[in-house]
Amino acid sequence: MNYIYADHAATTATSSAARDAMIDCMENYFGNPSSLHTPGQKAAEKLWESREIMAKYLHAKPEEIYFTSGGSEADNQALLTAAMIGKKKGKKHIISTAFEHHAVLHSLRRLEKEGFEVTLLPVHENGIVRLDELKAAVRDDTICVSIMYANNEIGTIQPIAEIGAFCREKGILFHTDAVQAAGRLDIDVVKENIDFLALSAHKFYGPRGVGVLYCRKGIPLTNLIEGGAQERGKRAGTENLPAIAGMAAAFKEACENREKDNAYVAGLRDQLIQGLSEIPHGRLNGDRIQRVPGTVNFCFEGIEGESLLLLLDMRGIGASSGSACTSGSLDPSHVLLALGLPHEVAHGSLRLSIGAENTPEEMEYIVNNVKEVVAYLRSMSPVWEDLEKGNKPHLI
Ligand SMILES: *Cc1c(COP(=O)(O)O)cnc(C)c1O
Repeated sequence: MNYIYADHAATTATSSAARDAMIDCMENYFGNPSSLHTPGQKAAEKLWESREIMAKYLHAKPEEIYFTSGGSEADNQALLTAAMIGKKKGKKHIISTAFEHHAVLHSLRRLEKEGFEVTLLPVHENGIVRLDELKAAVRDDTICVSIMYANNEIGTIQPIAEIGAFCREKGILFHTDAVQAAGRLDIDVVKENIDFLALSAHKFYGPRGVGVLYCRKGIPLTNLIEGGAQERGKRAGTENLPAIAGMAAAFKEACENREKDNAYVAGLRDQLIQGLSEIPHGRLNGDRIQRVPGTVNFCFEGIEGESLLLLLDMRGIGASSGSACTSGSLDPSHVLLALGLPHEVAHGSLRLSIGAENTPEEMEYIVNNVKEVVAYLRSMSPVWEDLEKGNKPHLI
């Protein structure tokens, strides 16, 4: 069997539609969109067309779309903007969750150093924020709520429409990191009362290093990058047109095929969940139902996630122990800890995130190999021996 890529939440291969759009841009739209001559104006038209495509599938207006270098930059700019608006109004409280991506959590940490106060809501065992807890956390000086659309490690979907409606009613700005949702879920910034939204092309078969910050009309963005007047003066730097056009092509394709692809991918996911649930002393992390189609996250007691990954890689399976941004560090995932899992259990995690190019045969191969490798690692694990002898109680 060919190598099986099951790490779509970390990144996706660039689709042929995206590659074609990028090459077309490099060959035929090389002008600088700020130039007044014909090649420049052709490029400016291409840029606008890409903006219209991104806007259309988010139910936004083209002038509410700001091109960035990716999801991280968009998250940073949204939170800095909210903080600056808060500063002017004398409001310094921001609410978020304990299992956000580090692009959000580390932005918030910086704002805390500058005098802002941050409340991180719990996400409970099912990995879903509770609206009543959000309501209880709101203060008179709350300026912004930042809650991700879908989590990158466990795939759970948050009640975005309810949160948006509540924030709008209270006059609180609402930012959502929708990087894992874009192209996979039907996002509607109007219906869902979203003020800021971040997405990233390389999570939906677009190129790396490009993303979007949606910012609702009338909200004054604060710049992260000063310079020329690109992006209506809010994000300087000559536009990366091939990447932007590639992102738009990938987004269009992902959104148009969404229903068909989701039904197929969810079937594969359920095959994985069913198969992996047969492993004793394991658990599926995050709500069984309220999740994006392709993401599955399990913990297996008595093993190290890293060893599992390396052995699976040798068997031709590309998986992850959590977020690509934190693997390499030996700390357990902050997401799994936020679910209330003990450290020992959180260490034995496996994230499989699949896409429409995966097959049922591949899922079967993955399930069989995970079963074998988990059994093998347990056979060598002193921790597992203690658990089996009853020296220590099983935690799951
Ligand atoms: C990947 C990811 C990001 C970062 O996006 P980049 O384009 O890689 O900067 C942010 N948030 C979430 C939830 C992600 O999965």
